[in-house]
Amino acid sequence: MVEKKIKTLYDVVCPFCGTLCDDLEVDIDVKENKVIEMRNSCQIGTKKFFSSNPGSHRYLKPRIKDNGSYKEVSWDEALDKAADILIKAKRPLLYGFSSTECDAQSRGVELAEILGAILDNTASVCHGPSLLAIQDVGAPLSTLGEYKNRADLVIFWGSNPVHAHPRHLGRYSEFVRGYFRTDGRNDRFIIVVDPRNTHTAQIADLYIKVNPNEDYELLNAIRATLRGTEIDEKEVSGVSKEQIQELVKILKEAKFGVIFFGMGLTQTLAHHRNIDTAICLVRELNDYTKFLLCPMRGHYNVAGANQVFTWNTGYAYSIDFSRGYARYNPGEFSSVDLLMKDEVDASLIVASDPASNFPAASVKNMFKHPLISIEPHETPTSAFADVILPAAFAGIECEGTAYRMDKVPIRLRKVKDAPGECLSDKEILERLIEKVKQKLGD
Ligand code: SF4
Repeated sequence: MVEKKIKTLYDVVCPFCGTLCDDLEVDIDVKENKVIEMRNSCQIGTKKFFSSNPGSHRYLKPRIKDNGSYKEVSWDEALDKAADILIKAKRPLLYGFSSTECDAQSRGVELAEILGAILDNTASVCHGPSLLAIQDVGAPLSTLGEYKNRADLVIFWGSNPVHAHPRHLGRYSEFVRGYFRTDGRNDRFIIVVDPRNTHTAQIADLYIKVNPNEDYELLNAIRATLRGTEIDEKEVSGVSKEQIQELVKILKEAKFGVIFFGMGLTQTLAHHRNIDTAICLVRELNDYTKFLLCPMRGHYNVAGANQVFTWNTGYAYSIDFSRGYARYNPGEFSSVDLLMKDEVDASLIVASDPASNFPAASVKNMFKHPLISIEPHETPTSAFADVILPAAFAGIECEGTAYRMDKVPIRLRKVKDAPGECLSDKEILERLIEKVKQKLGD
């Protein structure tokens, strides 16, 4: 019998952004263990699958830094060094976890508890304010399927899915045909609120240009107008009173509206107060029509990291185990704040690249102290690590579960084997836990 050289897998889930598209087709060269063709995925999703191929800066064996240069070592030696670093540290930080699957995240929580470490995920620099606001006032949320089938008014506030979530528009929010929106794009009115005339704004029916950092004022002006209050000023946040009145009319007349909000709302001045007010607006709109909102989560399993951390500790991010039990205080126990104050004396970064997006001063402090990186390929963070533990790509080289941006859990698939000696994040963390326990005499 002739062995098949190319294997095609259908309904593969894309482990890149929070949309978690689950209709990808992937051709694998079985002999070479390589992705050779992708269908249905967007450009960034495709790039991720191809970047898993050997070559593409993949780490194939564990490495440790020795006199300024790297040497490849056995797993035992690398884990031994990593465990020593973490045990010796007074204030170790375990950070990242948003680009891996839920079982690995759970092991991260276990390790942080054993070490008495700080445990944080990337929500602390993206949708952490959304979580704070939801804890304050609750949130009227639903699933992407509901929005696809019912929404006739879609608002993108401070988010630019054309670039950040390219297939969101085609699968759930703009062009797609839904059960009650059979004419697709023609059945929906699209509004973009953003300081920049983004590519998403350019294909919207209405673009509202809000002044940078003044979303809070605009949201409250909309709420006031909705209640029948006449605004004294001619404009609020760069938006005229007439435009606000027109917007309120559109909102009230919708049959089913949804606000998809991004980091343009969570990470501008007022932070969680922006989300708090957006949630209150949505709640008040439900006096007139059906209205919901949905955070546009970036990393494919950052929503899962929040779920897993919460069901293990009670808290979604920025957790401190130094007293032997979990304490939560974003702003005090967030990675950036601790690194800025140089309070962290060793870091373990899992499936994340803080050096690319943290403030320079905090990155500088992170690099001053021992650094361990669990990462499939070279990144600006791993390039400075003292120990590199090579990981398989979750959702490409190992299975697992991830939570979509609307908190729907989806099972990730394995499409090919990991190259070299790479292990899954879960297995690496399990082995590291064993090593740490041995050294602590547990
Ligand atoms: S939209 Fe996101 S999940 Fe879908 S294919 Fe693109 S990167 Fe992957």
